[in-house]
Amino acid sequence: MGLAPLWRLRSRPSAAKVAAGDWIALKQAVPACTACGLHKTRTQTVFGVGDEKAQWMLIGEAPGAEEDRLGDPFVGQAGKLLDNMLAAIGLKRGENVYIANVLKCRPPGNRNPEPEEVAKCTPFLKQQISLIGPKLIIAMGRFAAQTLLASDASISSMRGRVYKYEGVPLIVTYHPAYLLRNLPDKAKSWADLVFAKRTMASL
Ligand code: SF4
Repeated sequence: MGLAPLWRLRSRPSAAKVAAGDWIALKQAVPACTACGLHKTRTQTVFGVGDEKAQWMLIGEAPGAEEDRLGDPFVGQAGKLLDNMLAAIGLKRGENVYIANVLKCRPPGNRNPEPEEVAKCTPFLKQQISLIGPKLIIAMGRFAAQTLLASDASISSMRGRVYKYEGVPLIVTYHPAYLLRNLPDKAKSWADLVFAKRTMASL
């Protein structure tokens, strides 16, 4: 898959184009976006956060209630667990790590995103990947993995392999929010992080 075409905000001509390589335009375009119905129910968009030249990029599904309220991805208990997971492999949020979601607006009631919403929003994510130029992407959770890999396979069957998204090596692991509800799978997540670290060292 190549880089998505320039993103057009049809209902907001003043934010008409996000030029490739332009963080400022992208950061203006996302909060102004009304391309799908999720703009009607969001408190705010959740753009993504971290080192804009990071080698590691973590991608989750979509903002939850707390993220919608605060404007940052991976906050609350799941965010704390993510920080602990990062620390376990010698990483720290914001330092050589960038965190984003596939969708920039919260689906109401935390329902799964609709395919049309994903189609409208992924050009933003692709622009972020293009601007950051990560060496490795970690897709966190079933939805992010299935969306980025255009697959309906289970997380368990996708783990432990290196895929590519937008030309960038990608591996799959569980979402921290899932791990909070399924503590036994933490060990598998740890194995995934060790695999990620080994993969990064080989790149
Ligand atoms: Fe735009 Fe994405 Fe929000 Fe939909 S989810 S309104 S495409 S920013």
